Amino acid sequence: MASRTCLLFLLVAFLAGALAGDVIEVNRSQNQREFDYFALSLQWPGTYCRATRHCCSKNACCRGSDSPTQFTIHGLWPDYNDGSWPSCCYRSDFNEKEISTLKDGLDKYWPSLSCGSPSNCHGGKGSFWGHEWEKHGTCSSPVFRDEYNYFLATLNLYLKYNLTDVLYKAGYVASNSEKYPLGGIVTAIQNAFHINPEVQCKRDAIDEIRICFYKDFKPRDCVGSKDLTSRKSCPKYVSLPEYTPLDGEAMVLKMPTDREAL
Ligand code: 5GP
Ligand code: 5GP
Repeated sequence: MASRTCLLFLLVAFLAGALAGDVIEVNRSQNQREFDYFALSLQWPGTYCRATRHCCSKNACCRGSDSPTQFTIHGLWPDYNDGSWPSCCYRSDFNEKEISTLKDGLDKYWPSLSCGSPSNCHGGKGSFWGHEWEKHGTCSSPVFRDEYNYFLATLNLYLKYNLTDVLYKAGYVASNSEKYPLGGIVTAIQNAFHINPEVQCKRDAIDEIRICFYKDFKPRDCVGSKDLTSRKSCPKYVSLPEYTPLDGEAMVLKMPTDREAL
């Protein structure tokens, strides 16, 4: 009986400690006010991968014929209505084990298109997913308070709002010779999702498109989408480059170990 009471006491003490830890996190995050809306930032592999100079196993541009040909996820970003955004809101070190059941989906739809190891919020280096969770995911509270739900919801939004399919159905397909009117691309997205997206280019190539959501995941306009002239980095006619992965032989020659690639 005495040992049961002792166990109960230890359990209560442990829970109290854990809760106290949470309170500290909440207090830390109060330095930055609660966000206003989400931006789902999608990257075009054809544009990103063209800049690939060397390969490594974690870079999806290096998957040969399995390299991505559709928009992939860059991140789900909590934003403010004034155009600014919070970042690194509280300390929550990325733990890949928490999202192990989502790994297949993340590898396919949210791969890193780079060999680099981005810095995390607290002075270290880590994975692309770790960077996105720590920099942006920790600011998505109170909608998400843990990694698993943040990554799961992002995958679900990506699959529900299939940007590549919307553009494909409107005739905007990957091409190294065609130029498309930016206005036409924006109209196709407006017609499909009833919102104004944000579009970013690298020279004339579409680099990223952002689709925005209220906190209840209903679509809404992105703040940087007001008019075509504010889409600062894009010209009137834009391209959606095709990416031809390095061929097998070149790939072997250019494939350093992951360590060398860092
Ligand atoms: P860039 O300067 O390349 O557009 O953005 C660099 C990084 O700043 C992005 O990868 C992202 O982490 C952050 N960033 C840029 N624009 C936004 C934005 O509109 N909202 C949020 N939350 N982060 C952004
Ligand atoms: P952000 O610009 O989102 O703050 O930072 C992205 C970081 O992740 C950069 O350090 C970039 O080198 C690295 N990174 C790794 N994979 C990717 C990727 O697929 N896309 C982008 N935009 N950055 C990536």
